[in-house]
Amino acid sequence: MSTKKITTPAKIIRSRRKSIALVVQPDGELIIRAPKRATRKQIDNLIEKHTNWIAKKQMQAKETQALFAPHLFREGESFPFLGKDYPLEFIDLEKPKLNLEKTFQLAKSSQGQAEKVFEQWYKKQAREIFAERVTHYAQKHGFSYKKVKLSSAKKRWGSCSAKGNLNLTWRLVMMPIEIIDYVVVHELCHLRELNHSKAFWAEVERILPDYKVRRKWLKEKGNKFHFP
Ligand SMILES: [Zn+2]
Repeated sequence: MSTKKITTPAKIIRSRRKSIALVVQPDGELIIRAPKRATRKQIDNLIEKHTNWIAKKQMQAKETQALFAPHLFREGESFPFLGKDYPLEFIDLEKPKLNLEKTFQLAKSSQGQAEKVFEQWYKKQAREIFAERVTHYAQKHGFSYKKVKLSSAKKRWGSCSAKGNLNLTWRLVMMPIEIIDYVVVHELCHLRELNHSKAFWAEVERILPDYKVRRKWLKEKGNKFHFP
């Protein structure tokens, strides 16, 4: 007998299927899809046989859930900026509403609007940092663009319009500068190549020889930087 415990009671869904299947839901709940005639013993045997697999899946589900849990803006909770995490602290000062030193210091009087205050703060930083990075790469590599605009997109990190405007989501400012630079360079290169052709990637590589590492990072970890 295995001593590992299944942390959630299983739910059995019977249908006209032929075999028993175990499914761990994103919330960790175990669902058993079983044929109408499957006995409780058959089901229990299958669960018993896959105890380790179920426990592993449930643990993974729990970890993923924690990762995507919305911010609650509680003292001690950490918030990212340029790839580093800083704990939140409430302070008595009225202004600024939010300040970053070794911690994120939120004025107690702004606690009720923490989400809004944080978003405004991130956007302000994003505007300054993006402008600086775009100018840097544009000057160095001879790109001419019209405007840098902030978007609030959750997955589309950046885009480039045919008119020559660059759109970057402010959410990028939570990520390391190398990643911001990758998106900046990516969108600048679209000014020359509007598609993802070989010529486009060659241009990106010319400017950022390690762009593949950055692109991979963004693909794998970008979604962790959700807000709120
Ligand atoms: Zn692109």
